[in-house]
Amino acid sequence: MRPLVAHIDLDALRHNYRLACRCAPQSRSVAVIKADAYGHGALACARALEADVPAFAVACIEEALSLREGGIQAPIVLLEGIFDADELALVDEHRLWISVHSAWQVEALLSYSPRQPIPVWLKVDSGMHRLGFSPEQVASVWQRLVDAPQVTALHLMSHFASADAQDPSVFNQQMRVLQGLADELKAPLCLANSPATLAWPVAHGDWNRPGVMLYGSDPLEVANDVTRQLRPVMSLRSKIIALRELDTGEQVGYGGRWKAPRPSKIAVVAAGYGDGYDRHAVDGTPVLVNGQRCPIAGKVSMDMLTVDVTDVPEAAIGSEVVLWGAASNGAVLPVDEVARYCATISYTLLTGVLPRAPRRYH
Ligand code: PLP
Repeated sequence: MRPLVAHIDLDALRHNYRLACRCAPQSRSVAVIKADAYGHGALACARALEADVPAFAVACIEEALSLREGGIQAPIVLLEGIFDADELALVDEHRLWISVHSAWQVEALLSYSPRQPIPVWLKVDSGMHRLGFSPEQVASVWQRLVDAPQVTALHLMSHFASADAQDPSVFNQQMRVLQGLADELKAPLCLANSPATLAWPVAHGDWNRPGVMLYGSDPLEVANDVTRQLRPVMSLRSKIIALRELDTGEQVGYGGRWKAPRPSKIAVVAAGYGDGYDRHAVDGTPVLVNGQRCPIAGKVSMDMLTVDVTDVPEAAIGSEVVLWGAASNGAVLPVDEVARYCATISYTLLTGVLPRAPRRYH
């Protein structure tokens, strides 16, 4: 069997979820498990969390239905709402909650007769300028929904553009808009993603929506006491499948990007961009070989990558290689650090792991 496996530590997931709840003891925390739980496997993650969480959040109805098919009974909110009026019948049948961000969704909802009223989160564009009603539109939409027999448990929701940033100006501006609306409408709120859950108690509402922190990634620009306690949920592990001895000046891989600066030992590892490992990883991107940090040397290929193991004399065919997450000896390589070397964010690395890397749950 090819040795690349994405090990998923469900205890770590529960631990991280509890940390999110502890950050915001007055709020209920929806566990955001969209995009297949950020690549970790939505059904397995939902099953692991179901006893503790009051609700799950996914992007769309397909994601919700596969959770229902898997036996998940907890409330599920659709963060992007419906894409078509016909979906309301499924929303009703499967007892889903929806967000509404556009006028046509409101009209579709108010023309529909559900068997039971549908919990609705009304999305406000408080400054991200992606989805949602403008602050000026919100009061009239709110009033229509509050009075509608189709609707129950109406909340205002919004999303922060830069709750992770050190500079609080954009966050503060969004908060001013939201606080004003909440005061005017006496509306319960659902605002906080992971960074706001971690760093901005003022944004903690009736509900919060932590996502990436549940998987052990630190979304803040500067770590804090809580983020240091997060545990990686996914550990992407493979093995050395071949070794090469190179003379000074010999090159490795496509384009010969890396040239040996000294007599070097190169390990070939079974993991590549065909598994979702980012091809933008630069020379020096760390991996753990037998728990020791070693630098990637040469461009990532489809099925393999190459690592300079000159300083790890015990590196051998079959040695464990951790691309991110925890090694068998307990050493940890944060996915956030790997993401920086790839000029990306942990979200893309985690959601990008392809099915060729089987998930193994522990
Ligand atoms: N809420 C909404 C609407 C989102 O789109 C997301 C993620 O993209 C989240 C919450 C969770 O965000 P995070 O993963 O940063 O916690």
